[in-house]
Amino acid sequence: MADCLFCGIADGTIKANVIYQDDAVLAFTDIAPKAPVHILIIPRKHIASVLDIEAIDSGVIGRIFEVAGGLAREQGIADRGFRLVVNSGRDAGQTVFHLHYHLLGGRQMTWPPG
Ligand code: 5GP
Ligand code: ZN
Repeated sequence: MADCLFCGIADGTIKANVIYQDDAVLAFTDIAPKAPVHILIIPRKHIASVLDIEAIDSGVIGRIFEVAGGLAREQGIADRGFRLVVNSGRDAGQTVFHLHYHLLGGRQMTWPPG
C-alpha cells in the first residue's frame, strides 16, 4: 500500500534491520527498542490492524506466531519469557497502521501493562 511505512520495509524501499523473512512474513528490529530484544513481526500483506484481519489471513497470522516462537528461541529469551503485543487503535497507542506484533524480552516485564 502506498505511503505505508511497513509496506515500504516489506518491499525493501525503506531500510530496516531485517532478521527474518519468508514469502508471507517479515521480522525486523524496532527503531526505538523498549526492551533488550524488541522485534516487529509483520505480514507482507497490508492489513491495517487486528480489526482488518479476515478469514483468508488465518494462515499468515498463524505463521507470525510460529516465527515469534522461533525468534524467541534464537534470541535467547524463550526460557525466561517474553511478550508478544499488538497495539490496536488510539487507546492502545497504535502509531503504524500496518499490523505488527511486538516481540519483547530480555528484561522483567510488569503487569498490568501501562
Ligand atoms: P505501535 O505504536 O504502532 O504499536 O508500534 C510501532 C512501532 O514501530 C514502534 O515501536 C516504533 O518504534 C516502530 N517504528 C516506527 N518507525 C519505524 C521505522 O522506521 N523503522 C523501524 N524499524 N521501526 C519503526
Ligand atoms: Zn502496509
